[in-house]
Amino acid sequence: MPVYKAPLRDMKFQLNEVFDYPGHYKRLKSGENATPDIVEAILTECARFSEEILSPLFQSGDEEGCTLKDGKVSTPKGFKEAYDLHTMGGWQGLSAPEEFGGQGLPASMGLLKQEMMGTANWSFSMYPGLSIGAMNTIYLHGNEDQKQTYLPPLTEGHWSGTMCLTEPQCGTDLGQVKTKAEPQPDGSYRITGTKIFISSGDHDLTENIVHIVLARIPGAPAGTRGISLFIVPKFLPDEKGGAGERNGVTCGSLEKKMGIKASSTCVMNFDNASGFLIGPENEGLNCMFTFMNTARIGTAVQGVGPAELSYQWALAYAKERRSMRALSGKKEPDQIADALIHHADVRRMLLTQKAIAEGGRGMLYYATRLADYMVDAHTAGDEKKVAKYDDKLGFLTPILKGFLTEMGNEAANLGMQVFGGHGYIREHGMEQIVRDARIATLYEGTTGIQALDLLGRKVLLTTQGGAVRDFTLKIANFARKNLTDKRTRPFAMELLKLCAQWNLLTVRIMLVARKDRDIVSSAAHDFLMYSGYVTMAYIWARQAATAADKLENGGDESAAFYNAKIATAEFYYKRLLPRAQAHATSMLSPTKNLMQLDADDMAFTG
Ligand SMILES: Cc1cc2nc3c(=O)[nH]c(=O)nc-3n(C[C@H](O)[C@H](O)[C@H](O)COP(=O)(O)OP(=O)(O)OC[C@H]3O[C@@H](n4cnc5c(N)ncnc54)[C@H](O)[C@@H]3O)c2cc1C
Repeated sequence: MPVYKAPLRDMKFQLNEVFDYPGHYKRLKSGENATPDIVEAILTECARFSEEILSPLFQSGDEEGCTLKDGKVSTPKGFKEAYDLHTMGGWQGLSAPEEFGGQGLPASMGLLKQEMMGTANWSFSMYPGLSIGAMNTIYLHGNEDQKQTYLPPLTEGHWSGTMCLTEPQCGTDLGQVKTKAEPQPDGSYRITGTKIFISSGDHDLTENIVHIVLARIPGAPAGTRGISLFIVPKFLPDEKGGAGERNGVTCGSLEKKMGIKASSTCVMNFDNASGFLIGPENEGLNCMFTFMNTARIGTAVQGVGPAELSYQWALAYAKERRSMRALSGKKEPDQIADALIHHADVRRMLLTQKAIAEGGRGMLYYATRLADYMVDAHTAGDEKKVAKYDDKLGFLTPILKGFLTEMGNEAANLGMQVFGGHGYIREHGMEQIVRDARIATLYEGTTGIQALDLLGRKVLLTTQGGAVRDFTLKIANFARKNLTDKRTRPFAMELLKLCAQWNLLTVRIMLVARKDRDIVSSAAHDFLMYSGYVTMAYIWARQAATAADKLENGGDESAAFYNAKIATAEFYYKRLLPRAQAHATSMLSPTKNLMQLDADDMAFTG
């Protein structure tokens, strides 16, 4: 099985030349230490760790999986050693505040780390990934005592974190949460209930596990307005800040699942466990939203990762495996047959993967600049700016999470297809990429829920189309500037048409929704995918424009690299972007064709 190679050339092209991260970091307070030299050193070291330590555990971790014995969960062979190296390397605290032991680097540096480590081994990256969510929640909503107690060991990586939302009866509709939190005279709470599907719920990697738990205080209002958030550590912190007395939280069983088998997914039983309220009473869901947005951007990486990994391995295979002759004549006459890569249909699959991986990477790098600005504004106590960037990021988050994870699945499947029947056989790792990637469209809010969040909440309810107007204005400004150059003109023209169409579609849905509320749900998926294709088109146009400029004026990369960028952008515009028009047609189709069939008439069996 091949190994993962971090795509550093593409990463640096996008960071330095397309999105000007060096300039961006200079403007950031948290960017003081993110000098080009430091960024380069971190990228190189992270690539090495991902390639040499994590990638070799990709397949063995899947084969062995996690085990539960005598109430203790063990991770597969090699995971503990890799996690210890991760801790020693200071990776957990890369973007965490310095006051709690972190390196205080911009949030986007954390995303770059997540991209490489997650692509090499998504299961492994789940453990530190969940901790980041817990750290952010405590940092933003915890009191001083909670921050001092939990943030240093979490930042170092000696403790890890989880998010405990889902219960057997609800995952999306968290208003149905039943877990009870009974107040105690000492100000703590007794937490009782069962949570399912809890990632990193128990494992053998850290001294302690800090669960962030949604629960209901007796007498709280029904539904989402009566849910509070609690810290429930596996071991209660002792006076010295170490892992003390065992708390009443245990792993009841491990879920048997399709992929990411080296990531423990636990049923967690809370039995009168000591918990500590975090944030205001009954505002748990609001507090959790900070957690969810960071987690959702993190999950969007799981769209790009499988696309990249599957592409790397499929490309290598397509250059070696031989089958028949190219239709335009022999390409390798000395060989028994031409390599797969000479067949147009195989190129369609490979270029689709490449367009998704590199276009998706650009979408992530574009968006995380906003996350950097938001964190900076928060540190400076500028709540107005925080809200501004939160709104901008909030609009892009469901597009990134929903669209990129769907596209990541497509790319992973195409990689398997390039391998033919061998893709279905375990030894090549291609089917594992498919299995591992599949979860990304489900957790952290399914694609359907991302779509509703985008269209229902961000576009219609809170901004009455303003979010689309603002974003398309940005795209249109870019397009207008690129109308004169003959290499970028076709992209710019297409973008201008799409900007007008995106706004028109929004207005039309808004008008229909006044009479027919179901349109919001019936149009949501198509609207999300349409938004994703247009956003990716913008990002590809930016990459092509930069490449064209560098070809003329010189850049860090070779002419072949820049020409490949322009060629891939052309492929994207001609072969993937047209799908947006099918979504545009479908989203405006009357709700009747979805709703007219009686539930009892959906199937006639027996
Ligand atoms: C491997 C794995 C790891 C996980 N890790 C965690 C974790 O660490 N912590 C945690 O708390 N949870 C975790 N989860 C749970 C995960 O977040 C939920 O499974 C997910 O949010 C979906 O919830 P559900 O399974 O209850 O599906 P449901 O909510 O029952 O949804 C079923 C289907 O109905 C659709 N649907 C639901 N409501 C609506 C609506 N109003 N309108 C339109 N469509 C709707 C959904 O899109 C979906 O397609 C994990 C799950 C898995 C499988």
